[in-house]
Amino acid sequence: MLIIGSHVSYGKNQLLGCVEQAIEYGANTFMFYTGAPQNTIRSQVNENLTIEAYKLMKENNILADKIICHAPYIINLASNIFPEKYEFSMKFLRTEINRCNLLKIKYLIIHPGSAVQHEKNIAINNIINALNKILKPEDEITLLLEVMAGKGTEIGTNLNELNIIYKGILLKDKIGFCLDTCHLNDSGIDIAKIDNYLNEFDALIGLNKIKCLHINDSKNEIGLKKDRHANIGFGTIGFDNLIKVIYHDKLKDIPKILETPYVGEKPIYKKEIEMIKNKKFNPNLMENIINLK
Ligand SMILES: [Zn+2]
Repeated sequence: MLIIGSHVSYGKNQLLGCVEQAIEYGANTFMFYTGAPQNTIRSQVNENLTIEAYKLMKENNILADKIICHAPYIINLASNIFPEKYEFSMKFLRTEINRCNLLKIKYLIIHPGSAVQHEKNIAINNIINALNKILKPEDEITLLLEVMAGKGTEIGTNLNELNIIYKGILLKDKIGFCLDTCHLNDSGIDIAKIDNYLNEFDALIGLNKIKCLHINDSKNEIGLKKDRHANIGFGTIGFDNLIKVIYHDKLKDIPKILETPYVGEKPIYKKEIEMIKNKKFNPNLMENIINLK
């Protein structure tokens, strides 16, 4: 079954607002941040809105157990140069997990972190130590480590690093992974040959640990370590290669989430999801949208 959705905004209507957007986009799942991705200002979870959201999901065939939450970018578990910042990141991640529990969300994505001035092995150790402190056996969440593009001093840009982190985690059943087609491309993986990567992932970690896929085209050539998303079919990866990933036999039943750029201040997820469902690229999509305005 194709499980497809996009990033949606968690505004004042919280989860209910997210569901309404997902329905509008023709999605059967979605991903949200519990506030702005760049900051840690968070509102209290409103239980009534959550109940309404689940009712609406049921009525519209949105797969509640495939919804994804994404932690803000500023959480950095890799650096403890400033101990108070490291502590803050851990505390904040803990409150995000608690919020996910209240919202009954099963998957929370985090970026492994940036080493900043640290040697890589120290940074990786910091991540492992932080996660082992934060995760509790009673948690119902699976924390998903995202594969990164390799911008700056990012950790988690290759399978070796991800595997070292994974091997260091005590509660392994609480950990999964999120692949991002743009990040993979920018880190040097050829999406046209995704099978090679999947085989390697399976041998090291196990494909059953991949719980989410971010589907984005890339504005940059392979291996440039940039992380700039492009609209589906309008980047260097291309529509056919992305379709191959989306409909890959080994990746079915995994939620696929679009985080593609807005066009003219608005997301075009609905149109992109339509193309994905029809497996047919519309090269005139951008002109059509601009002409409609
Ligand atoms: Zn991410």
